[in-house]
Amino acid sequence: MNTKLNLNGTIPAESQQATKIAVAMGDGIGPEIMQATLEILKKAGARIEPELMNVGEKVYLGGHSAGIDQEAWDIIGKNKIILKAPITTPQGGGYKSLNVTLRKTLGLFANIRPVMAMDPFITTGHPNMDVVIVRENEEDLYAGIEHQQTQDVVQCLKLITRPGSEKIIRYAFEYARAYGRKKVTCMVKDNIMKLTDGLFHQVFKEISADYPDIITESQIIDIGAARLAARPEDYDVIVTSNLYGDIISDIVAEIAGSVGLAGSANIGKDVAMFEAIHGSAPDIAGKNIANPSGLINAAVMMLAHIGQPKIADKIKNAWLRTIEDGIHTADIFNPKSSTKRVSCTEFAEAVIARLGQVPATLPLSQLATGNGTITMKPYQRKNEKKTLVGVDVFLDWQGTDPEIIGHRLKELGAEGMKLKMITNRGVKVFPGGKEHTYCTDHWRCRFVSTEADINASPPDYKKISFERILYLQSKLNQSGFEVIKTENLYEFGGKRGFSLGQGE
Ligand code: NAD
Repeated sequence: MNTKLNLNGTIPAESQQATKIAVAMGDGIGPEIMQATLEILKKAGARIEPELMNVGEKVYLGGHSAGIDQEAWDIIGKNKIILKAPITTPQGGGYKSLNVTLRKTLGLFANIRPVMAMDPFITTGHPNMDVVIVRENEEDLYAGIEHQQTQDVVQCLKLITRPGSEKIIRYAFEYARAYGRKKVTCMVKDNIMKLTDGLFHQVFKEISADYPDIITESQIIDIGAARLAARPEDYDVIVTSNLYGDIISDIVAEIAGSVGLAGSANIGKDVAMFEAIHGSAPDIAGKNIANPSGLINAAVMMLAHIGQPKIADKIKNAWLRTIEDGIHTADIFNPKSSTKRVSCTEFAEAVIARLGQVPATLPLSQLATGNGTITMKPYQRKNEKKTLVGVDVFLDWQGTDPEIIGHRLKELGAEGMKLKMITNRGVKVFPGGKEHTYCTDHWRCRFVSTEADINASPPDYKKISFERILYLQSKLNQSGFEVIKTENLYEFGGKRGFSLGQGE
């Protein structure tokens, strides 16, 4: 069956037309591994028209803090497919990660990283691992919203959204189906982050119902990561949020044998970017010894994505055969399993010489026999009744005794509002705080309607008006308290949309 198999279904399968792609040669070993990869693509008959764009170190040092200029943005806008070699981010000086900029600006919501062991040809303690990490790419702690609020305290906002979670989780299931995978594992930390990771987990449960043919499981990220490192063969597709995905995708790449092997795809609705997972390796740049495999594997993913899965298979199978034949670059060379230590260019020549051949023992690449196109449903917002029931006011207060601030706030006389509790770093310290809790200068003070029963269990909240919150803030200010921020407390569809304080 030769049906469509691409990563977002926007490009027709096995199209005969050449696809324009934006190519970044990169820094460090970038130009070496890109030359090698482009040569293989050419000799394999890939129908692509590369257009070079300048991004990276020179552009950074030329005064563009994100490492990209307007000309490169225009090339990306025109071509929509990017094959990118690693770039060097200059140290210090407020330079921003080009990858994060590209992912966010271009809406590249899914980061796909397949990692497979190639035992016994490449040494690994995990001969049966064959894992795909599907990492959310746009939100979570990577939203980059950080503030210093007091002398003692800085914060970073963790943003998990329903549309973002739906998109990445549906993508993971669609990917699993299209690529013949059997199981999707969700990794979260919702025993602690009940709202943010709780939402991700909830969406996973909802979406998994649409895929009864796929086995599903959920794990807490800490034990999940530990098991992944110990028994990666137990996993198939893993879907997770941005930071956890960043960490576990490096774990799997490392235990497979070499960072030089894995490729990755960054997929968006309109644009997709393909690259090796490693950096620009300045320590070995210019020596022609780098392993081009990561970028070759990224290019294979790109070809499947742009509707050329047969050519993708041709390259992947030749690459597998090269690895099996023991033709290895220095990073994976092992006298027990390698037959020849080759340079970057010689490795590419060996792959080219094997185009048309298939691996003898490693699993055959069969992208062209895939069974479908990835289809994403448009997001539909739920409009549940939203009720304002209180406010958390964060104060910068230099005292240390919760009883003092607690009693002052109780006596504030903010009409219609009363203090429910105070926490310090999330732990309730008033009323009835714990004497061992260390208190910083960052106090979260929860105010609710005077009509609410603060002793009820579960807590009972009552609707309040926004004017009450404004009045409360002005009253606090007049009383000499420094309000550093407020967070409104809402119920959605009658359900609490905020966490309780520890001990509340
Ligand atoms: P790195 O991945 O470049 O190198 C880590 C180690 O792996 C080095 O010893 C290197 O020699 C080796 N290595 C990496 N790729 C290899 C390959 N293909 N063949 C053989 N050996 C290889 O990580 P780093 O040293 O932390 O970062 C170097 C630069 O790369 C930094 O400026 C960093 O910001 C940048 N970087 C870029 C990207 C990207 O563009 N996607 C990703 C990560 C790091």
